[in-house]
Amino acid sequence: MTVQPFNPTPRTLMGPGPSDVHPQVLQALGKPTIGHLDPQFVAMMDEVKALTQYAFQTENPFTIVVSAPGSAGMETCFVNLVEPGDKVIVCRNGVFGERMRQNVVRVGGEAVMVDDAWGTPVSVEKVEAALKANPDAKFLAFVHAETSTGALSDAKALCALAQQHEVLSIVDAVTSLSGVELKVDEWGIDAIYSGSQKCLSCVPGLAPVSFSAKAVAKLEARQTPVPSWFLDQTLVMGYWSGTGKRSYHHTAPVNSLYAMHEALRLLKAEGLENAWARHRAMHEQLKSGLELLGLDFVVDEASRLPQLNAVYIPQGVDDAAVRSALLERFNLEIGAGLGDLAGKAWRIGLMGHAAREENVLLCLAALREVLN
Ligand code: PLP
Repeated sequence: MTVQPFNPTPRTLMGPGPSDVHPQVLQALGKPTIGHLDPQFVAMMDEVKALTQYAFQTENPFTIVVSAPGSAGMETCFVNLVEPGDKVIVCRNGVFGERMRQNVVRVGGEAVMVDDAWGTPVSVEKVEAALKANPDAKFLAFVHAETSTGALSDAKALCALAQQHEVLSIVDAVTSLSGVELKVDEWGIDAIYSGSQKCLSCVPGLAPVSFSAKAVAKLEARQTPVPSWFLDQTLVMGYWSGTGKRSYHHTAPVNSLYAMHEALRLLKAEGLENAWARHRAMHEQLKSGLELLGLDFVVDEASRLPQLNAVYIPQGVDDAAVRSALLERFNLEIGAGLGDLAGKAWRIGLMGHAAREENVLLCLAALREVLN
């Protein structure tokens, strides 16, 4: 059998992630691999750390990039911070809140669920009631930007409640980071994770994570060992500490981290506020066009994510046939519905480098063609 080199057709990625990768990020990926303890690489890692702190708007010394996808960022928070018997208030308004619950259960924690309907944000009032009813809770966990529905929750208000009730907040920022306002220090977030493949427009497979001093203290005061060797941050800290000699923990994904460096450098050059404004402007343009096509949004305007536009599939339209036609005729990927919205909605992403006018226009024109 002769196997040919793999040459994927370039696509425009306007689904729920991965998003279009910036060409400069792809170029960075192809630079020569050097050792992960090479002084040049170590110096680059210091810049990655500083740029990740910028993206999260934090000065947390514990800010790292986990060598694995967003789900590993999620697990990093739960396996390190939650101990057997710890009570965690988990907000569930889509797929990823449920994934948080499963993480809590697997580490032996007790999950107290606050449920909201798919397509709505996490209810601040319900969370406040849950915190009052559970004075022994240790954590509040929620998803800032629920990718399965396109709903944005009020992270600032939720973290203020967590502080008031002296519980640590664990925040999923996989889809929110650099697409909408997010201020880790100002909002008092204790543990946060994201993914490389959404609004950062980097290659998939990396997870930026940051812990506040309170979260680090909780980790250091653990009575039981962290139940994962790879994700145990007490072991990883030596590599990312940025002071003195770096010690080997695992072989870092060297080239992916070059890509991350470039993606974060591009974000810094654009400026976070400008990136947030660009996502908003592109969303407004897309929204006007989708409404002209007669498509209705799943989420109310007030809590709609600019970077993830979930719209109902019109009656009588074949979901899979439309997505296949977009891919085959226009090399355009949009996302299917997930969980409760499977077969009922499409998810159109405007994430990072994909949040550009040419993409909006392509998407609207292609949809008009395929739907008519
Ligand atoms: N959390 C949210 C909100 C997500 O959207 C995703 C991925 O889509 C994840 C977690 C998991 O990230 P990954 O697929 O990179 O493991």
